[in-house]
Amino acid sequence: MESNMSNAIPLCERSSREKGMVCIFGTGDFGRALGGKMLQCGYNVVYGSRNPEHSNLVPKGAEVLSHQEAAQRSSVIFLAIHREHYAFLKELTDVLDGKVLVDVSNNLKLNQYPESNAEYAAQLVPGAEVVKAFNTVSAWALQSGTLDASRQVFVCGQDIKSKQMVMEIARTLGLTPLDQGSLMVANEVENYPLQLFPMWRIPMYISTALAVLIFLYCVIIEVIYNYVNAGEDATYSIMISIPNRVFPIVSLILLALVYLAGVIAAFIQLYKGSKYSRFPDWLDKWMLCRKQLGLVALAYAFLHVIYTLVIPIRYYVRWWMNNYVITQIKNNSTAPFDTSYAWRSDGYLAPGILGFFFYVLLGITSLPSVSNIVNWREFRFVQSKLGYLTLMLCTGHTLIYGWDRFIYGPYYRWHLPPAFVLSLIIPCTVLCLKLFLILPCVDRTIVHIRQGWERHPKIPVPSMCENGKTTV
Ligand code: NAP
Repeated sequence: MESNMSNAIPLCERSSREKGMVCIFGTGDFGRALGGKMLQCGYNVVYGSRNPEHSNLVPKGAEVLSHQEAAQRSSVIFLAIHREHYAFLKELTDVLDGKVLVDVSNNLKLNQYPESNAEYAAQLVPGAEVVKAFNTVSAWALQSGTLDASRQVFVCGQDIKSKQMVMEIARTLGLTPLDQGSLMVANEVENYPLQLFPMWRIPMYISTALAVLIFLYCVIIEVIYNYVNAGEDATYSIMISIPNRVFPIVSLILLALVYLAGVIAAFIQLYKGSKYSRFPDWLDKWMLCRKQLGLVALAYAFLHVIYTLVIPIRYYVRWWMNNYVITQIKNNSTAPFDTSYAWRSDGYLAPGILGFFFYVLLGITSLPSVSNIVNWREFRFVQSKLGYLTLMLCTGHTLIYGWDRFIYGPYYRWHLPPAFVLSLIIPCTVLCLKLFLILPCVDRTIVHIRQGWERHPKIPVPSMCENGKTTV
């Protein structure tokens, strides 16, 4: 180890002007992009290649040698080669001994191999300090100046000094290194680039399924019913009227689902009298994607607002209003001002507007740039207290919209309840359950449980005897 490291001064000890020599194995897309970026940032780059004499695509200023010769020139070697070709590393165990070997590789599938690529490299070259890094940065991002791509470099490895060396290089390249721990997490780090919006999948599936079902439900009771019963063609409502019923319903149900997970978790803890037993897997997943559920709910609320704002310019609405006024004039009649209707209309709009305002506030505070500057208590206050207030306001908005429609027979077509009635089931259930949970006696028990109290402790809790000694 001494002999190999001696002629290669550690990179982190060099002056800022002279950044030292970095070796890259592989003159492919990633190797070239990384080498080019390193040259721009002041490093000297030497490539290790199978065919040094045929590598004319490498960036200007870089040398290309054999793997053996190139590895001798630097204390840090980037392995820009696919895992399937790592076998040649076995022949380089001597020259790589004590050097930092940076594995940048990715796989084609999640958990493709029993061990991570970095662990595999460490098995092939036990004397090298293998560090997993740079696999989440693309060749394109490096070439395009990393301006409009993720700058995060996840780093893991056994040796702290080696990791620091790699993190220093990442920083010099304008990237943000994040220490993820030991090489045991390399598998997780290798899975990062293969995941496709993992936390968004469940919210997207749920919202799409809800939107499709409610849309079909509305088509049945508003379009097909009218056609079958009165021969009326109401198909035009498919474009705006029905979507504007679907969006708020989906939004409200999703918002209620965000809080239902926490309510179910609280009931499970109450039932088990402990916080130390695991939640079922489905609840764990549900709890983890609440932020995304809330953001999808907010997107549907936005659509509802936009669709509502265009109502006055719709042909159907303009025709209906003109026709109403003309009919009044023809009949020489006027409609008296109905105060109770005015109250009802404003009472329906006001919680809707306020609910949307708090909805947006919830969305803003869930942005990392905002949540990073509020403390845990402030975050909980906004997401929990204001969240429930938003749910109450939006539920109130729908309840007042319903008003006498809840009991008005013609709205129950083919004995099916209007869609807005369906939208209230989950929110009202969540609010009632929450009301139960905040009863002082129930709330006290939950707080105790969350502080670690157990109804049936597995390890008996010591209690004091009369003589002051503790017993079990
Ligand atoms: P690539 O264009 O196919 O280049 C791979 C290089 O590996 C070749 O140019 C070749 O270099 C070398 N090689 C091929 N067969 C070999 C063998 N049998 N033995 C020794 N060396 C061999 O692939 P790449 O896109 O640069 O990706 C390289 C690594 O970086 C992969 O592990 C990939 O997962 C990872 N990565 C790539 C990106 C990206 O955006 N491309 C992003 C993150 C991570 P020589 O001809 O010079 O020997």
